[in-house]
Amino acid sequence: MRGDVQPLYADPQLECMPLADLVRIAEGKLVESSVIVRAARSSLYRERWTAAGVIPADITSYAALRKLPYTNGRDLRQAESQYAPEEIVCSEHVRLWISTSGTTGASKWIPRSDRDLADNRQTGKRYVYLAHGGSRFRPGQEATFGLAAPAPFVTDSSAVTGSIDGMLLEIPGETIALNYTEAQDALFFALRRRPSNFAAFPSVAMRMAEGVAELAPAAARERLAESRSLQNLLAVLMTKVRKVRPRDLVPFRHCVFAGEPLDPYRPAIRQAYGVEPFEVYSFSEFLGVMGDCAAHDGVHLWIDYCLPEIIPQSEIEQEEGQPGYIPQAIPLWEAEAGQRGEFVVTNFADAFPLVRYRTADLIELVSRQPCACGRTHPRIRVLHRTDDIVNLGLVRFSIFELQKRLSVLPGLGRWQLWIERQDYKPKAILKVEESDPRQDSQVWKEKVLQEFLSLDAIKLGLDNHLIAEPEVQIVATIEERRTQSGKLRKVVYAADIRPGGS
Ligand SMILES: [Zn+2]
Repeated sequence: MRGDVQPLYADPQLECMPLADLVRIAEGKLVESSVIVRAARSSLYRERWTAAGVIPADITSYAALRKLPYTNGRDLRQAESQYAPEEIVCSEHVRLWISTSGTTGASKWIPRSDRDLADNRQTGKRYVYLAHGGSRFRPGQEATFGLAAPAPFVTDSSAVTGSIDGMLLEIPGETIALNYTEAQDALFFALRRRPSNFAAFPSVAMRMAEGVAELAPAAARERLAESRSLQNLLAVLMTKVRKVRPRDLVPFRHCVFAGEPLDPYRPAIRQAYGVEPFEVYSFSEFLGVMGDCAAHDGVHLWIDYCLPEIIPQSEIEQEEGQPGYIPQAIPLWEAEAGQRGEFVVTNFADAFPLVRYRTADLIELVSRQPCACGRTHPRIRVLHRTDDIVNLGLVRFSIFELQKRLSVLPGLGRWQLWIERQDYKPKAILKVEESDPRQDSQVWKEKVLQEFLSLDAIKLGLDNHLIAEPEVQIVATIEERRTQSGKLRKVVYAADIRPGGS
């Protein structure tokens, strides 16, 4: 943590109390909020819990909670298609429905009550203090420039709800929200307003930086044609000498990034925007905003707002190889630093509680020791998905979709998809075994590449310059990267196998 920044907390007592006390508070909320009794009304949980002989009123501790079956996004989609929305909701007072993007299947619809929105605001307020730090914090005297990506990448309503939260918390300040695909005009308007804060997805922010460099020479020439001032002449000359970066146009004081892991983009963003980037981790089903502090050593997970667990990778692999096997989760507050696994969460939401919800996000526990910032809430790093969804940053597709495309190629041998980085951009390398040596390997390679490029997500990602050009490599044999249960891995994230992870 930098010496010149004094920590400042939204709630010093709850943010800095010993971890064991926080866990006691969360276990207390399990009872006080009657979350399990309420959740048992929902068709999402009711039948499976009844079949498992669960008596909701008996779930009064984490030890009892552990006996409940897991739920995941697939269960939620299924319940939403099978039952009326009112049979899913657990509260009479819904205020807002939000949905996931549905990039990889039908959208999931999540209800929020007034109480949920109030809780969300509290973690949002914590985040404002977490990211701004002490002396730099000037609530409300600034404008925020929010850059969202359209569906099918990620849908985003947070700019609007964030601005309403600002009203309710009586924090003054303006928001300029714009869609990435309409960036050019809106961007130049937003820059004239000189916002201090910037919120975006990391890949979109970097694409914007590339766009600024491409557009700047023409824009500077246009300004010079309008007014032949010395300043405008110098601006044109400057674009000839070096690439213009966003930092040359607008001095953002504070940048927040969400939607995909910030890590691979961090140095590039720092350079392009001239400011230290902060990370936010949140997802539609979950209530609350989590983020990293000025120490940038993982995202603080608010233990008084949820009971987090982690399913170790070894357990997930055993489940993959042995249908019906129920993997065992570890409470996050007892896991060892460096433990990797799937993030499972129980929260105390009103309209739609998550109970042992498997997020399919692979996380790593950074530490459960108190942080340099003074907060005692454990810190995690979000890596990528654990399920059949391939992550190329915001660009996501199902491994089954790829399998389907490749299956039209007669005689295709085994294949494996490697996810690497080219600078900061995600790059997919499809390794394919040559199945018929009589074929012209160049022709064969081109055929495989065309099938891969025909995936909608890949096309959109390339059109919007969010990913690097995918590549096909014909190999004699696929490298034997197998799961513990012996299955050949279809997707290998290069960052996972390098020392130090991502
Ligand atoms: Zn911290």
